[in-house]
Amino acid sequence: MKIFKYFFGAMLFVSASAFAQDDIKPERKPGHTNQNKFKQLYDEFATPNMFRTGSGAPGPAYYQQQADYKMDIEIDDVNAKLYGNETITYTNNSPDELTYLWVQLDQNMRAKDSKTPLINSSGIGPATSASRATGTYLKDSFDGGFNIEHVKDTNGKDLPHTINRTMMRVELPTPMKTGNKFSFNIKWWYNINDHVNDGGRSGYEYFEENDNRSYVIAQFYPRMAVYNDLEGWQNSQFWGRDEFALPFGNFDVNITVPADHILDGTGNLTNREEVFSKEMMKRYNKAKKSYDKPVMIVTEDEARKTEKTKSNKKKTWKLSAKMVRDFGFATSRKYIYDMMAVKIGDKDVMAVSLYSKEGNPLWEQWSTRTVASTLKSYSRMTFDYPYHKAISVHAQRQGMEYPMICWNYGRPDKDGNYSDRTKYGMISVIIHEVGHNFFPMIVNSDERQWTWMDEGLNTFVQYVAEQDFGEWNPTALSPGHDQYPSRRGPAKNIVRYMGGDQDFIAPIMTKGLNTYQFGSNAYSKPATGLNILRETIMGHDLFDYSFREYSKRWMFKHPTPEDFFRTMEDASAVDLDWFWRGWFYTTDYTDIGIKEVKKFAVTNNPNENGKKLAEQYNIDPNSLVYFIAEGDEGYDDALKSGKAIEDLPTVKEYIMDNFTPEQQKSMKKSPKFFYEVTFDKPGGLVMPLIVEYVYADGTKEKTTYPAQVWRLNDKEVSKAIASDKEIVSITVDPDLETADIDTSNNSWPRETKESDFDKFKNKVKD
Ligand SMILES: [Zn+2]
Repeated sequence: MKIFKYFFGAMLFVSASAFAQDDIKPERKPGHTNQNKFKQLYDEFATPNMFRTGSGAPGPAYYQQQADYKMDIEIDDVNAKLYGNETITYTNNSPDELTYLWVQLDQNMRAKDSKTPLINSSGIGPATSASRATGTYLKDSFDGGFNIEHVKDTNGKDLPHTINRTMMRVELPTPMKTGNKFSFNIKWWYNINDHVNDGGRSGYEYFEENDNRSYVIAQFYPRMAVYNDLEGWQNSQFWGRDEFALPFGNFDVNITVPADHILDGTGNLTNREEVFSKEMMKRYNKAKKSYDKPVMIVTEDEARKTEKTKSNKKKTWKLSAKMVRDFGFATSRKYIYDMMAVKIGDKDVMAVSLYSKEGNPLWEQWSTRTVASTLKSYSRMTFDYPYHKAISVHAQRQGMEYPMICWNYGRPDKDGNYSDRTKYGMISVIIHEVGHNFFPMIVNSDERQWTWMDEGLNTFVQYVAEQDFGEWNPTALSPGHDQYPSRRGPAKNIVRYMGGDQDFIAPIMTKGLNTYQFGSNAYSKPATGLNILRETIMGHDLFDYSFREYSKRWMFKHPTPEDFFRTMEDASAVDLDWFWRGWFYTTDYTDIGIKEVKKFAVTNNPNENGKKLAEQYNIDPNSLVYFIAEGDEGYDDALKSGKAIEDLPTVKEYIMDNFTPEQQKSMKKSPKFFYEVTFDKPGGLVMPLIVEYVYADGTKEKTTYPAQVWRLNDKEVSKAIASDKEIVSITVDPDLETADIDTSNNSWPRETKESDFDKFKNKVKD
């Protein structure tokens, strides 16, 4: 059965409110700024230019800088210090002349004079633990800043440099012109932090048993800042939250650690035969052909044995990486090591895990399999994973990403038992962090400014990958779960945040450092927005094509928010300005409901209102069709006559006079029930109006009115419905697709039962 819209040609509606909805003008108040939700996104967007086009693709003059590194790194395991020496070769591909370079010194966030603690508000509660009291009031703060020993040119001459907290300006002897390269050398050391107790994205975990450390090391070297067409130098300080903006380059890194350590990191291991034992090489060659399960390179038994003693010899691991924006590595004598191969396109990629016995039995079972599954899902949604490996490292309380390597939490208790929460938490964090290889390691957005561009996009694909993982690995799901229990992605999961206190919600387009509820703001909300676009507004085909197009356009490049917004429209022909505006630039929420349902009976006999209307327009009253609202004079009589619209004498006559017998036969509709449904929108967000009509015979019909149904009236909209079956109930957003924060107004007749939102509100009041 079809619900159709009326023609206004031959018929007049008696009910004045049923005159064309399009004629109703939004209320205007003098001096009120135009808040039209469909206003083009124009003022908010940077003007397209030769660097970045209006289509959202890189322009003909697009450029990016390059920073290549040669490094020698040594870890002093006894004193937990890192020593480094690097030569950076910087290539100026910009059309601009550079007189200085900016280098990032992220570790200075942990320096004694760091300003990070000073910008956080602090207070004194009624009680605290002895350890926290000691840490806060007695202990000297940890000194983890960089100690820069020298900055020299390649002739060994000191280069003038100035350190402003986490940024270092290096002055160039002569200005760099387009196409010029400049090499310089930095020598440094720093105290490695205990990341479990002192926090941070990098550092060591200390194990009292056998006095061992496991190191996950990143931001360990002075890193070039980004210079581009948008910012000039992106030298916004590192306060500890907003992550990184880094140019691409090639890395050759030699890392010296105790000889009994197992180490892996970004890049190709170029001296594998020197650092692997013969047995490890044999197993590695087997792993390269194992597509269905991981092969142990270092077993738990072997790792248990190794961690009991300490070698006083050293070993140097040599890693070489092309086109990466960063470098990370993990090293410990505690590590168990396993790998399997995964086919991506026509290429084999190695899925790899490093973990200590504390991670088992969970890690040997699921880590490497999760890596392999993630690479497949993300490659399908974006582009084929271009690197040769992806490593998941187990590190207590960590969830952090670098090119080809990431650190992940998820630890069973001492007896090896674990809850569902630990298991799913571990699988989800591995999917998420491995997924970061795509955003922002390859699609290299500026994390310092736009957390959502990597976290939001990545959390969206994470949801898709989690669902794939559950489907491909049913044995990973706990009894009673027929699909992976994703925490972020489905629209209904964002309702609590969207409907919360507006004083503590910021638009997504706010720098992460300055937002409340960081996780919801930068991860869940953008991810949910993309999910709504994919599931409800654009559909899988248009969304997936456009999302892949964005990913491919900006693979190994630096996109901006506009590049994403523009590409999604450019590749799909779906006008999304209203969506970006509402979901990304405001804190509005969805609340759409049913305000009123009026029933009408159809007749040729006018009541007083009908007669007046005919008189007003000077029309013969006997030529009109009248719709009489329930409760109005004449309704009962009209209903009792029980005539379908096509049986009314005026309509019959009109059809006879105007259509051939052939045409008359083709008129198959026979509507008997007429309704005017008024939907209202207490929420500020615009969304498609999804309505389910249930008929007296139990059948259902779902109609989606595009979001543009709200374009001329943001508050309410009416729909005339004609049906050959009686409608017994109507529900807005029956499948909870739009993140509607209050579903108590979503149905007609009103359900009296407490809505989820009310339950939540009442719970909060308790
Ligand atoms: Zn993340």
